[in-house]
Amino acid sequence: MKICIDPGHGGGDSGAVGTQPFRLEEKDFNLGLALLLEEELEARGHWTILTRRKDRSLSLPARAKLSNRTGADLFVSIHANAAGNPAVKGMEVYHFPGSKAGQAAAARILESIISAFPTHSNRGVKEANFAVLRITDMTAILIETEFITNPKQLQFLADPENQQNMATAIADGIEAIV
Ligand code: ZN
Repeated sequence: MKICIDPGHGGGDSGAVGTQPFRLEEKDFNLGLALLLEEELEARGHWTILTRRKDRSLSLPARAKLSNRTGADLFVSIHANAAGNPAVKGMEVYHFPGSKAGQAAAARILESIISAFPTHSNRGVKEANFAVLRITDMTAILIETEFITNPKQLQFLADPENQQNMATAIADGIEAIV
């Protein structure tokens, strides 16, 4: 399977920023997890491409068009979530409104990450008209891993073991799609 992995944000766009109990920028978390996912998928014999491999800016259409040019079967955008209320937590996965393939892929991946982290809240599969989901030609999903604005979840996201287990769970979910 050909998978385009998109680490959200980058460069001047830090994405969401968590500050408690320490500072963590979403763009850095997203890239770290994307690189682990790449390694995991390559080890399983899949072909992968990343929309960015370092801390740089990239527009949303540029991410989608890059994926379209590669002929990938699946586009996976990686994010961490944010809310004004620091108590908000949980995992959710988005697909483009009305996309049956997107819905199925989102459900498999969310199921897999929730089963890897059963104490986390399942916020469900959601639809959104995000540019990266709209412009991509292939099945496309966007993972909101956890809330970087929740101090406990920020620590969860920052933990290298959790990141590796998350990458494994996403790869398991991807393999469950086909
Ligand atoms: Zn984001």
